[in-house]
Amino acid sequence: MGSMTGWAGKILRVNLSSGAISSVDTKHYVNFIGGMGIGYKVIFDEVPPGTKAFDPSNKIVFSVGPLTGTGAVCSGRTTITTCSPLNPYSAVADSHFGGYWGSELKYAGWDAVIVEGRAATPAWIRIEDDKVTIENARRLWGKGTFDTQAEIGAIMGKEAHVACIGPAGENLVPTSFIRTGLSHHGGGHGGVLGSKQLKAIAVRGTHSVKIASDPAAWNAVLRENLAVLGANNQHVVPNSRLPWAEFTSGTRWTAAPGRFWGAAEPPVETGLCDPHDIHSIGFRTLKSVFDLGPLAEKYTVRMGGCASCPIRCHSELKIPALEQFGYSPSVASTCVGFSGPGAVMLKGAKDVAEKGDGPLMAKALGAQIANDLGVWCNYGQLAKDFEYAYTSGTLKKVLSPQEYSVVRFDLLEAKDVRFLIDFYERIAFQKGEFCHVADGVAAVAKRWNFGEDYWNDKQYTVWSKMGYPKHHSNESDAQVGTLISTVKNRDAQNHSHQNFIGCGLPVSKQKEIAAEIWGSGDAIDEPLNYTPVNKAKIKFAKWSLVKLALHDSLTLCNWMWPMSVSPLKERNYRGNLTLEAQYYSLATGTKKNEAELDFDAERVLHLHRGLTMLQMGTKDMRKEHDALPSWIFDKDPNKTGFTKGSENMDRADMELAMDMFYEEMGWDKTTGAPTKATLLKFGLADVAEALDKKGLLVG
Ligand code: SF4
Repeated sequence: MGSMTGWAGKILRVNLSSGAISSVDTKHYVNFIGGMGIGYKVIFDEVPPGTKAFDPSNKIVFSVGPLTGTGAVCSGRTTITTCSPLNPYSAVADSHFGGYWGSELKYAGWDAVIVEGRAATPAWIRIEDDKVTIENARRLWGKGTFDTQAEIGAIMGKEAHVACIGPAGENLVPTSFIRTGLSHHGGGHGGVLGSKQLKAIAVRGTHSVKIASDPAAWNAVLRENLAVLGANNQHVVPNSRLPWAEFTSGTRWTAAPGRFWGAAEPPVETGLCDPHDIHSIGFRTLKSVFDLGPLAEKYTVRMGGCASCPIRCHSELKIPALEQFGYSPSVASTCVGFSGPGAVMLKGAKDVAEKGDGPLMAKALGAQIANDLGVWCNYGQLAKDFEYAYTSGTLKKVLSPQEYSVVRFDLLEAKDVRFLIDFYERIAFQKGEFCHVADGVAAVAKRWNFGEDYWNDKQYTVWSKMGYPKHHSNESDAQVGTLISTVKNRDAQNHSHQNFIGCGLPVSKQKEIAAEIWGSGDAIDEPLNYTPVNKAKIKFAKWSLVKLALHDSLTLCNWMWPMSVSPLKERNYRGNLTLEAQYYSLATGTKKNEAELDFDAERVLHLHRGLTMLQMGTKDMRKEHDALPSWIFDKDPNKTGFTKGSENMDRADMELAMDMFYEEMGWDKTTGAPTKATLLKFGLADVAEALDKKGLLVG
């Protein structure tokens, strides 16, 4: 183990071409915190612009942060960074999985794994503390993610944690994922592992993570953290009337007397879950019912999740009817992991085992198949791409008559969930022309010549010609969600803003808290009652992006963090925004306050921006990268922006919002490029120099 605290102190580098295995000192990366910061820095330093996602010269970085494995609340996430196969420029993108792989990596003494090159034959990486070997994966190649994990577990022992791809990743499907455990996956990066002929990285660690502080100080922060913790997405108000609660809202705090984990033996009642009772936190989020409807309650075995997380937002269900399709009855996922696959049943799903179970079965069977084959739903966009191709008649044109006749559209039309088996197998095994439906928005639209109607249609909600879908965008506090959605090279994946506006507190209370954080309650609009942009909204947007970079670097779960609010009336529902810095200081021994740590996180954002410019070869990010979809302005054709009840945005207002946002970020107003002064302020002279060499430096 290294001499650092918080961080393990070293990073593993595995070259699959040469078989070389070496280590790098983590100290080189601490200005970038960890996780996402390490990932971007490695790609900037080591992967030349112009590298395509599946080139052997592309690298893929699995990285965790100084809080992973420490026991900090909700610190079980891992960031995976590489050049994205879904982005038309192969621009850098990060995906994330939870589970236990990241903390196990720390227990093995590593902060990250950098994988480079390409194996000559299928391989997997075996990490047991300092002992690292490249193993033969011929027997695993072609297997699903369930069997792969089981087989490696049989070799390394059940304590090992495995990150692996299914056939979709092996076959370079752009919308494939890397999976660990029952239900955790990093979307869009499975094909990069496949291109390297790398089936899995398995890790077993026997050490612990050392922290700098004494246990009493650490435990005090933990207790404060548990006191302000809500339910999933930091929802702090229950969604049914409970005696302890002042408010009720449609949140993910779904626990209530009479609501059960119905398939547990014996069934477990979620109950009152008084927020002062930290021992019942794990019951607050009955996500199966939230995601799958009331019928799911009786199939719920328990709620699962990630290391160090008491929230447990992954539903683990036992649905016997799944067996008739050849699948295990035990299925697990969360949110879009269920709804994305379920949405492939465009016409709905007829019942399987009991009245009304069709939608639940579509989601559960779809999740099961996708999880095993390793196909990612691209945050629900895969089903939308398919819907457009099918309903517009495109598939009839691009598939040969012979292929069209064998795709089981008859099952789709009959609302028979067995269509999902045909759909996912065609994609994962790259059968015929049909499989290209999973190439990602940008690629499939080009290949099949989707019309402008696709890009502009409010139904399909494609966010950007960069090839990604909307994800908590204009419907999430208007300009705030819109600005946030422009920055990354994939869907925004940002919950900093969404958690706040969805926390369940009345808007008047949210405005009070917003005024304390962003200087004015005007940072928050009432839902569907948008107001023109103002300084507080711009601050809210930047804050959300900085906090996301912070969490994905530390690593903490941005489905829970930041702790802006709490469920406690006696605190007037205030949360605690100093917790990340307190944890960081106590774990690493380097004292930083909230502003100082946010500064480091902001550095990660500017690095991402500069790196993206180099990869795209442009400084006009405003036009080439951040262009807004027209449907956000025209969603309600008969209404203008700022009409109560409408989601429509206003074009002039958004142009002003972009100006103000770039100014706040220290980016050039005309182009959206970070200025030289900003890059130097954040210690990114090497980024400035690289941009200058390409004629892309501004200011
Ligand atoms: S809230 Fe869910 S995704 Fe986040 S750490 Fe907890 S279990 Fe994992």
